[in-house]
This record gives sequence, C-alpha cells and structure tokens, in this order.
Amino acid sequence: MEKTNLLYEGKAKKVYETNDPALLIVDYKDDATAFNGLKKGTIAGKGEINNRVTNHLMKLLEKNGVPTHFVEELSPRETAVKRVSIVPLEVIVRNIAAGSLAKRLGLAEGTKMKKTVLEFCYKDDELGDPMVNEYHILAMEYCTEEELKLISQYALKVNEVLSAYLKDLGIELIDFKLEFGRLADGTIVLADEISPDTCRFWDSATGEKLDKDRFRRDLGHVEDAYHEILRRLMGE
Ligand code: UDP
Repeated sequence: MEKTNLLYEGKAKKVYETNDPALLIVDYKDDATAFNGLKKGTIAGKGEINNRVTNHLMKLLEKNGVPTHFVEELSPRETAVKRVSIVPLEVIVRNIAAGSLAKRLGLAEGTKMKKTVLEFCYKDDELGDPMVNEYHILAMEYCTEEELKLISQYALKVNEVLSAYLKDLGIELIDFKLEFGRLADGTIVLADEISPDTCRFWDSATGEKLDKDRFRRDLGHVEDAYHEILRRLMGE
C-alpha cells in the first residue's frame, strides 16, 4: 500500500489516499491546538503516542464488538484505515463532570454524576462545534434515526469497555470524544482517534491529569503525561 495524494490536513493528522480506493493512511503530527485553534504548540512525541494508543484501544474495541476503521499500523506514526465518510458529529461521553460541562452547569470539576451523559456537537470549526440534540440531528439530517441509535449504543459500549480496561491500569476515564463514519455500504464504524488528545484521563490514585488539559491549561509535564499513558497501556 502506498500513499498517493494528501486528502486532508487537520490540526493533529494528515490523511492520504492510497493506491487502494477503500483505504486511507493517517499520519499523526506532534502539533497541538486548543480552544478551536486559538492556542497552538507542539508536544514532542505526541504523534507516535497517539497513533499507538489509538490503535491499541481500537483493537480492544473490535475484540469487544465495536466495529472500527482500523486496518493496520504501518509505522510509529502511520496507520492504514478504512475510508469512511465522517458523520458530522462529535459524540461526547462523560462519566465525571469536567471541562465545558462543569463550566456550563456550574459544577466543580470532578463532580460525580448519577448517570453517564451523552452529548453531540455538530462538527463545524467556523461555528465552534455547537452542541446539538437528537431533534437538531434529525432535522438537519446529520445522520438517520437508525444511525443515531447505533452510534449512541456504540458510544456507551466504548465507555464500558474502556472504563473497565483503564481502571485496571489505574486510570479513570473522565470523558472523551468519538467520531463515527460510514463505509461505502453504509455500515457505521468508529473512526478518528482515541488518545490523550480526545479523552480526559486522571490517575486513579492521585487525580493527576494525564491528558491534553496539561497543554490547554499550561500545567507543565505535558510530554510526561502522554508517555505515562502509553507506558501504562503497553506495559513499557
Ligand atoms: N474533545 C475533543 N475535541 C473537541 C472537543 C472536546 O476531543 O473538539 C474531548 C475533550 O478532550 C474531552 C471531551 O471531549 O475529553 C469533552 O470536552 P469538553 O466538552 O469538556 O470540552 P473542552 O473542555 O475540552 O473544551
């Protein structure tokens, strides 16, 4: 499999077409952005770590019944994935109040909630990814009702599998963002990445943040946190 042309360059990854029309190659970058691109920087080693962490978790999810776009890790930063058309939603799952939810509802970060919370945002950088509900999603035809049901089921399953897995590694899964795509035949699969860029990971014992909040909030030891997640996952 060979890269042909660059299809898309985003904030954290480049995506290439290949000589196989059904496959793309994702190339993870060290670049980091936050606050809808307002804050920019680099996190040394992030590309490799996010590639390896994502693939490790995607494989775990596949084994547990969640279909994903993952095909094969090609190099430390590059992975072959199935070509999908992305459903234009960010699917956010929250176990503990943090970030924008804590702010919006006036809760202290770390507040436990009675139930897992599922949120959807319409993927549009210019609009700042506004939050939408089921009515908006169906009215605007971002996906079908059937797709939305499946996406919601998969998102909650991902939460169950990852929360249990990470708990054993001393990591509390606070919240995370998922994206889904459609294969050529319409099958919904989990796509994009699952990494310290897209999840909040807190050390179970100390509450220390081991994710992109260290970059967003200038907490220092950003690279150490990313490495610590990789180390716990890979047992390295
Ligand atoms: N998230 C993400 N990309 C986004 C927005 C959020 O990966 O564009 C992740 C974020 O890392 C966190 C979860 O989704 O794990 C919930 O984020 P929140 O809505 O609290 O927004 P934030 O505080 O990150 O701006």
